[in-house]
Amino acid sequence: MTIADRRAPSSEIEQVLYSWLSENLPSGWIEAVESGDRARLYELRLALNYEEWCEKLGRAGWATPTWPKEYGGAALEGPEAKLVGELLSKYKVPRSFNIIGIGMAGPTILQWGSHELKARYLPALAQHREIWCQLFSEPGCGSDVAALSTSAVRDGDEWVVNGQKVWTTLAHMSSFGLLLARTNPELPKHAGLSYFIVDMKAPGVEVRPLMQLTGDSEFNEVFFTNVKIPDSHRLGEVGDGWKVATTTLMNERSALSGAGSESGANVGGGPYEAVIRAAKGNGSWNNKVIRHRLVQAAIDGQVIKMTNLRVAASRRSGRPPGPEGSVTKLFQAEYNQRLQSLAVDVAGMSAMATLPGDDQAMATSKGFLRSRANTIEGGTSEIMRNILGERVLGLPKEPQVDKDVPWETIKRSI
Ligand SMILES: Cc1cc2nc3c(=O)[nH]c(=O)nc-3n(C[C@H](O)[C@H](O)[C@H](O)COP(=O)(O)OP(=O)(O)OC[C@H]3O[C@@H](n4cnc5c(N)ncnc54)[C@H](O)[C@@H]3O)c2cc1C
Repeated sequence: MTIADRRAPSSEIEQVLYSWLSENLPSGWIEAVESGDRARLYELRLALNYEEWCEKLGRAGWATPTWPKEYGGAALEGPEAKLVGELLSKYKVPRSFNIIGIGMAGPTILQWGSHELKARYLPALAQHREIWCQLFSEPGCGSDVAALSTSAVRDGDEWVVNGQKVWTTLAHMSSFGLLLARTNPELPKHAGLSYFIVDMKAPGVEVRPLMQLTGDSEFNEVFFTNVKIPDSHRLGEVGDGWKVATTTLMNERSALSGAGSESGANVGGGPYEAVIRAAKGNGSWNNKVIRHRLVQAAIDGQVIKMTNLRVAASRRSGRPPGPEGSVTKLFQAEYNQRLQSLAVDVAGMSAMATLPGDDQAMATSKGFLRSRANTIEGGTSEIMRNILGERVLGLPKEPQVDKDVPWETIKRSI
């Protein structure tokens, strides 16, 4: 039975999910989690076919529980979806890394897409069969993304796209992308944009991976040379691209911070426990400064959890994502950097000069290096503070001399 097959009170939903997990997870998984047998769980995780598993989870409706059933979800309300998220976290159930697809493309297409687009793209995305990327940032604009230069020019029933994007996470693995492009350079920057779904395998799309501090290549440069997009793949009206992009950006902040998830457990829960274990294991637990920082991390983790609960309650009452996503994005990013620094200090030398085969030390050092990006990706902390200053505290807006003039007259480096 899938969750989509029945509507039930929360406790029943938990039972349905628990029995689905018991039937579908590899044998011994639940027992390994319940008994804390990490070595066994690691073995089972290695043997699991990740792609097949994510597809199965998506087909059952668990990956996107609040989406309508006809588009691959389970039509659950907030409290039930919350239980789904909590149980999946509790049982360390592998989930799709298609976070831009599930967390950003899905909600944007649900709000702005036609029935045909929803039916075509949402189920495949929820089932991890098609990965998505977000094509907003460019070499000449990131924080001020409304100033972007990539152009889309109408040609009958199609649009022809030229330009360059950068920092495009997962573009090298993506089937489709969310593209913000300039369709009218004579209008002020926000007014001249339109929003499209672009086929990342279309002729003229070139993806070049960029290497990060960690040695991984999660993001890319993407070049568009006369790439054709059917007009049916436009989301929102021509010139409404900024409005549609705002839906994506609000959901991005929530997806990156866990806001609205209500779980709290995936917001520092896992890594925090690992730091505690390491501190107990090597004796740094007895260092008063380390103890103080561990306590502070526990308090911060609770603050994030409580804020996420408030955001989720507000979503349940029907309010769309608002500036509270900026609160959790800002706090989560800085919290994770403090936590990763703490993990490195607890590990000591091993996190700085890792020995081959010391997976734990490698993970600690990589976690620290990766966390440097947290205060940049999804909008920098400075920009989050600007949004909060203006929209929550009601402080005067930043002066914006280029806001009401034609985009083509603005001085740009690129
Ligand atoms: C790991 C990672 C993944 C990413 N993935 C994607 C992706 O998938 N898709 C995508 O489109 N983009 C992605 N980005 C890009 C990201 O959104 C931008 O890097 C970010 O918005 C900042 O833009 P920028 O790099 O152009 O810096 P800039 O905007 O040039 O900012 C430079 C510095 O100036 C500060 N600053 C700028 N404007 C102001 C202001 N008005 N007030 C105060 N300070 C200001 C910034 O805070 C920053 O410190 C990713 C970035 C990273 C690090």
